[in-house]
Amino acid sequence: MELFSDLKLSPKILKAVKDAGYEKPTPIQEKAIPAALDGKDVLGIAQTGTGKTASFTLPMINLLSRGRARARMPRSLVLCPTRELAAQVAENFDTYAKNLKLSKALLIGGVSFKEQDILIDKGVDVLIATPGRLIDHFERGKLLLTGVQVMVVDEADRMLDMGFIPDIERIFKLTPFTRQTLFFSATMAPEIERITNTFLSAPVRVEIARQATASESIKQSVVMFKPKRKDKEASEKRQLLRHLIDLEGTNCTNAIVFCNRKTDVDICSKSLNKYGYQAAPIHGDLDQTKRTETLESFREGDLRILVASDVAARGLDIPSVSHVFNFDVPIQAEDYVHRIGRTGRAGREGTAIMICNNRDQKNFLNVEALLQKEIPRTNSSDEYSSAKQIKNDNLKSKSVSTEEYLTPDKEIKTKNTKKHQKSENNNRIIGLGEHTPGFLSQSFNDRLAS
Ligand code: ADP
Ligand code: MG
Repeated sequence: MELFSDLKLSPKILKAVKDAGYEKPTPIQEKAIPAALDGKDVLGIAQTGTGKTASFTLPMINLLSRGRARARMPRSLVLCPTRELAAQVAENFDTYAKNLKLSKALLIGGVSFKEQDILIDKGVDVLIATPGRLIDHFERGKLLLTGVQVMVVDEADRMLDMGFIPDIERIFKLTPFTRQTLFFSATMAPEIERITNTFLSAPVRVEIARQATASESIKQSVVMFKPKRKDKEASEKRQLLRHLIDLEGTNCTNAIVFCNRKTDVDICSKSLNKYGYQAAPIHGDLDQTKRTETLESFREGDLRILVASDVAARGLDIPSVSHVFNFDVPIQAEDYVHRIGRTGRAGREGTAIMICNNRDQKNFLNVEALLQKEIPRTNSSDEYSSAKQIKNDNLKSKSVSTEEYLTPDKEIKTKNTKKHQKSENNNRIIGLGEHTPGFLSQSFNDRLAS
């Protein structure tokens, strides 16, 4: 494989890349960077965690290092589906452009227009934005896109899911047709294919791994869940989640738990906390400050479990997540690939465990159809029920109602720290003790051995 120094990037950029600790470009970087440096349009298709960000930021910085920005006319534009992702791209720019004098503005919701206007008025080399916010600025007459030389669309499939495609089309039309376009997506839905056919000109197509392939370094499994009591289904499911986390023991250093609904993200996170697992929610309804804070503590390793919705988690750059738990089978099969792509990054081992109940069967089959392979079933719901019975006996005092899950955060926190310390000293199969049923210790031992 090539080295970064083999790519025709300027020495100042190479120095910054080296300082960031990267030696070799990832496969998508190796192919996309030279094409972009040649001024070609690029269509990059690669799963999450393959290093797409640097594959467009590095050539952009190189191209922008010559020339300077005019007032209200950004020279380049990066569109991202969420604020978090936009903020991450901005961080990447800072890292790689640190030896150059390039200006940037980040146009995302939750930040005052005024501050952003000031930056735009001065003239920016790089404008990083979510589509809605960009259009707001444009409509206020504060922004001209006719000076855009390079335009990037990142995480296009998520843009599609979020209904941003009309916005993207509109923005494309506001920029000069002579612009260079770099377009990235983990998957190629027909609607995305259409957009790229319309707005990219003779793009160099860089496709890494088969479409919608999950990384080989992720150990996947699914647990078929059948509640013992229909009226307790929700709490039994949360109990199963805790149980699955416990089974992973110390192997599970940090995890993302994905839920389909925002309400479940909240309930799940509170419930985990109540039981002494350090968890915090992240979804689109939480304010920006809170989301940033949560993400930061997760990145720093202060927070062990992030409970997330698909939208909030899309594209988050969280290094080395050991586990992904799918509390629900995603409704869109392609989200499965995105979700589990949070683990097993850059060749590290990862584990992805999904809970599937009867109602999820159809979605589950869609996931397997997309992957074109079977996800191993770890145990049947019957076996789980017996394990649960024993666990229930041990934890009799802990029957819970939904109301209890919704106690205020503060109370939970104090309880939580104690419980957390305690659980660290415990056997890995917390709460099962000597009663661990055969099938559980079996799979547990297998995991230890592997
Ligand atoms: P994607 O956008 O494809 O999901 P990112 O650009 O967010 O991927 O990169 C995923 C992770 O890999 C990040 O933590 C990033 O710092 C790291 N990374 C990117 N390029 C390299 C490289 N060449 N060498 C090592 N790590 C890299
Ligand atoms: Mg990305």
